[in-house]
Amino acid sequence: MAPNKIQDGLVVSVQYTLKLDDGEIIDESTADDPLLYLHGADNIIPGLERALTGMAVNETKHVTVAPADAYGEYDEDALESFPLGFFPEDLELEPGLMLDMSDENGNLFEATIVDVNEDEVLVDFNHPLAGETLHFDIKVLALREATPEELAHGHPHLPGMHGH
Ligand code: ZN
Repeated sequence: MAPNKIQDGLVVSVQYTLKLDDGEIIDESTADDPLLYLHGADNIIPGLERALTGMAVNETKHVTVAPADAYGEYDEDALESFPLGFFPEDLELEPGLMLDMSDENGNLFEATIVDVNEDEVLVDFNHPLAGETLHFDIKVLALREATPEELAHGHPHLPGMHGH
């Protein structure tokens, strides 16, 4: 019998609205295009995964997630200046621009330009939602057992999706 409450090893589809403290909706996933994730595989932020544990199909919940259980506290030390020449010449450098940067080991980081002056660019390596308390309205739409392949990959597969 298929399990009827969210637990590890299930593929879950969720509809959600995500708001910040000021009530601004910054993300949502509708019933037509739900979030699909594998429970217990760190596909989603820890605070949201914990709140979903044990929920049943059609159940709704309001969840408040503190920064530590979401995208982390804002780190003042995660700001770094780079010389203008560090960036490709054809890149239009301006505050708010998101960058994909890598270190000498090939690790990728998302970063945001904060400030640009005559010779330097100030880059913020914090996640854009670092320091934010997140308010989710969630509704569980469907549950199913993950396939062995999904469990091995650590994420859900859409119908017809394979080979990765
Ligand atoms: Zn896969």
